[in-house]
Amino acid sequence: MKKLYVFIGPPGCGKGTQAGFLKKEKHFNSYSGGEILRAEVAKGTAIGKKADSYLQKGLLVPSEMILGFMLKRLASSKKPVVFDGYPRLLDQAETLDKYLVGKKIDATAILFDLPDAEVLERITGRRTCEKCGAIYHLKFNPPKKKNVCDKCGGKLFQRNDAKVSVVKNRLKVYHTQTEPVVGFYKKNKNYKFYKISSLGSIEKTRKQLLSAVGL
Ligand code: AMP
Repeated sequence: MKKLYVFIGPPGCGKGTQAGFLKKEKHFNSYSGGEILRAEVAKGTAIGKKADSYLQKGLLVPSEMILGFMLKRLASSKKPVVFDGYPRLLDQAETLDKYLVGKKIDATAILFDLPDAEVLERITGRRTCEKCGAIYHLKFNPPKKKNVCDKCGGKLFQRNDAKVSVVKNRLKVYHTQTEPVVGFYKKNKNYKFYKISSLGSIEKTRKQLLSAVGL
């Protein structure tokens, strides 16, 4: 039976980091809605052009823009799959639910919980290298030289969606639009549901995750 893990949580809760860990160390496949969309923007595709303004403002893109990408990847994967940040809207959870009917897929939802104040500190401190994309944090993972990438010497910048006003907006979107998805998985008996605290170290969160996925 194929396994699907749906990661839910506010921006900055570390679900992407944990998904990356499962991919690298445990050979899962991990697919992030945000990464797929940013790649489309970079390639300049029709979907990327439409998605760009939503991403810049921290708004969720319309569900049909992302659904096909996610389901195609789930269908073709031979390994356990992590959906990092999908579903984020109730209609996405319901569509995925319908898709799973009759498929041999065992689905688990995992909520990475983090208070708003912590989200703000984590995200607004993020800096990205404009050349190689490496990510730093002014407080938790600063570069050796201010505003310069340790890896390639590129200049660091603050992504638009890391700015205070945008993060506040993303939090609002999370509470109003994504929290109903949490309720959906809590109630629905077809899914296992785990809540993990993302406070504290990456390692502490990872231990809870490994126990939730039974590794
Ligand atoms: P992330 O990298 O997960 O923080 O996502 C960045 C942005 O991509 C979000 O602010 C949304 O604009 C978009 N996005 C990612 N996943 C979804 C989704 N499941 N539904 C709609 N929009 C999404």
